[in-house]
Amino acid sequence: MNNRLYGNLIFELSKEGRKAYSLPKNEFAKYSTKDIPASLRRAKDAEMPECDEMTVVRHYTNHSENNFGVNNGLYPLGSCTMKYNPVINEEVAMMPQFNNIHPSQPDCTCQGCLHVYYELQKQLAALTGLSEFTLNPFAGAHGELTGLMTIRAYHMSRGDNKRTKVIIPDSAHGTNPASAAVCGLEVVEVKSTKDGIVDVEDLKGLLDDSVAAMMMTNPNTLGLFEQQIPEITKLVHECGGLMYYDGANFNPLVGVARPGDMGFDVMHINIHKTFSTPHGGGGPGSGPVGVRAGLEQFLPNPRVRKDAEGKYHVDCDEHSLGFVSGWMGNFLVYLRCYVYILTLGKENVKMVGPLAVLNANYIKESLKDVYELPIDVLCKHEFVFDGLKDKSTGVTTMDVAKRLLDYGYHAPTIYFPLLFHESFMIEPTETESKDTIDGFIGVLRKIAEEAKTNPDIVKSAPHDTPIGRVDDVLAAMNPVVTYRQLIAENNQ
Ligand SMILES: *Cc1c(COP(=O)(O)O)cnc(C)c1O
Repeated sequence: MNNRLYGNLIFELSKEGRKAYSLPKNEFAKYSTKDIPASLRRAKDAEMPECDEMTVVRHYTNHSENNFGVNNGLYPLGSCTMKYNPVINEEVAMMPQFNNIHPSQPDCTCQGCLHVYYELQKQLAALTGLSEFTLNPFAGAHGELTGLMTIRAYHMSRGDNKRTKVIIPDSAHGTNPASAAVCGLEVVEVKSTKDGIVDVEDLKGLLDDSVAAMMMTNPNTLGLFEQQIPEITKLVHECGGLMYYDGANFNPLVGVARPGDMGFDVMHINIHKTFSTPHGGGGPGSGPVGVRAGLEQFLPNPRVRKDAEGKYHVDCDEHSLGFVSGWMGNFLVYLRCYVYILTLGKENVKMVGPLAVLNANYIKESLKDVYELPIDVLCKHEFVFDGLKDKSTGVTTMDVAKRLLDYGYHAPTIYFPLLFHESFMIEPTETESKDTIDGFIGVLRKIAEEAKTNPDIVKSAPHDTPIGRVDDVLAAMNPVVTYRQLIAENNQ
């Protein structure tokens, strides 16, 4: 084992008496621990590592170098929109005026932060063609749940309690059916056509007065624009249901097309995807929810309002579905989004979608002679290959993805969507240059060549990463998920 790469736990590097801090004089020394009720006192001192500064710095720096992020190289993870997060976003988010606020301080002391909230929800409304947004939900999935709760509150307000079904395409992201189930609604699946879009004939058979809503992702998880949206929204509205837009794939539409104009009633946006804040490893995120005019009163509390004098207030609505988060969401995440939109400006923001689409189509067209392209049409921001074209080599999508790591690229999304056996889903985003993309195309062509001339090197990849090929069956059957377990296994 290479110690520099694997390190130890910081606890194992601890030597009694070493320290890397000097604290100011303890103002509370006059109190003794006896002043704390016995029930609240520790039975023994907390175990803390004792290390010198150099050890601490090297430990964490070495660990951070084992990570891979957008700042290291291309991260073409389909469905996830891993775009560059400009440094200015971080600089603004680090300002103490923004990150030293408390959610319960009086409105009059945080007018700047409330201005950000109010203005951003207006910007998102303008970009999507909807009426108002709440920024309170913490992620896309949380936005889906909030959106469905908004729809339920709307039906209930009309005394229409029989609407219990949500129609969801078979190509949808797994969070869609999960959110509907958490909301207490029943999931009904609608099929895709062989061209990968919603099958309108199948949909017609599912519509009745028990439908609360239909959820659609557009472009869908295959990167395809759902061309029949006008007909679908008409059909669902005619039977009294509302249309929900999963906005996780909003990136290619920014500045070009608006879900509100397409007839959608409610949508969420994944700020951490479309609007550049970093994500991965589970957060933090932000999933604002927007609604068309007439549904605003059902959005979650609290709301931010502006009075005639231009002062902001935090309010609660009586018809609201209630609270979905402790306060007002992940402020520093949507602050970055606000900075990103202002940095681009009204004109440049219109280039986000077209450039994302251009980059994806350029990669698709440059590789489709060596990788299998099951749906060969103009795509939006992402597309899906079904493995290598030459199936005789035995090299799988997993092998290609692992081999990419040796060349310094993050792998695309693999084996999703489930519509193909060897899915290999690429999303470059608009923030990559032509040079970077050409480098990526070159490497994927090289791997396709290796699959013919030296398949073993691909099948046994990766060779240059801190951890080589893991046995995923063993990992699933006998997971070693803690460091202590790893040490115990190694000592056996
Ligand atoms: C990412 C994604 C989601 C879930 O969003 P989170 O922010 O990860 O909760 C939902 N739908 C689609 C299509 C997605 O790509």
